[in-house]
Amino acid sequence: MTSTILITGSNRGIGLELVRTFADHNWHVLACCRRPQQAVELSAIAEKSGGRVTIHPLDVADSEQIRALAETCGDLSIDILFNNAGIAGPSPQRFGPIDTGEWLETLRINTLAPYQMAVAFVEQVARSSRRIIATVGSQLGSIADNTSGGRYAYRTSKAAVHMVMKGLAADLADRRITSVALHPGWVKTEMGGPQAPVSPAESAAGLYRVLATLTPEDSGKLWSWDGSQLPW
Ligand code: NDP
Repeated sequence: MTSTILITGSNRGIGLELVRTFADHNWHVLACCRRPQQAVELSAIAEKSGGRVTIHPLDVADSEQIRALAETCGDLSIDILFNNAGIAGPSPQRFGPIDTGEWLETLRINTLAPYQMAVAFVEQVARSSRRIIATVGSQLGSIADNTSGGRYAYRTSKAAVHMVMKGLAADLADRRITSVALHPGWVKTEMGGPQAPVSPAESAAGLYRVLATLTPEDSGKLWSWDGSQLPW
């Protein structure tokens, strides 16, 4: 039976490569993005996929859109709910005055949305065979790893979503759902910038390997794209 993954923010960057990677491995991909009509590369992948990739409009900041998509998915099984959509948050990144409205928006996209997605799609995940909820966190959200300061909005949003995933691991264990945060590496995307050492394709391939080998014992942890476990 074909496995299914739902990916948010799938029109560019890591999300787009995840779509390509999972489709190449014959998964059914529910590729979500804010503006499907502008998602040229994603549309090209969908067109060539023979129906394996379907595109769905979803702004993760909009709770109503999340709820409506979950309703549309109905009694579908979703093996992996993959929360990828994220934003970098306000500049400047160093200690100093910050736009608190933008900080709150960063929390809304990076922290609240993955939680809302989990609540909305828990039934579809619970009835699948893999039963995984994965959210892209970040090494920058690791409290143990923070020796350089700065990036307050982004770091707090990712540290908080790590805690969300830890909480889901506990709350959904009795439904045998595995919940993890994933660090994708420092990746050459609009967010990661041109200096980043890892290509989106390398990151997606690594994340695919990690997800393919996850077991329930791996739940409630932060995993890197290279398969290593990172400290919270
Ligand atoms: P990009 O900036 O290249 O892509 C971000 C994606 O998120 C885009 O598809 C964007 O869509 C989408 N997005 C943003 N806001 C929303 C929203 N409200 N609703 C739906 N989609 C939205 O970033 P990356 O591909 O690099 O990042 C992907 C994830 O990986 C993020 O969570 C990021 O924090 C994380 N990450 C990235 C690292 C890196 O080095 N690149 C390192 C560690 C973590 P749109 O085109 O509509 O804006």
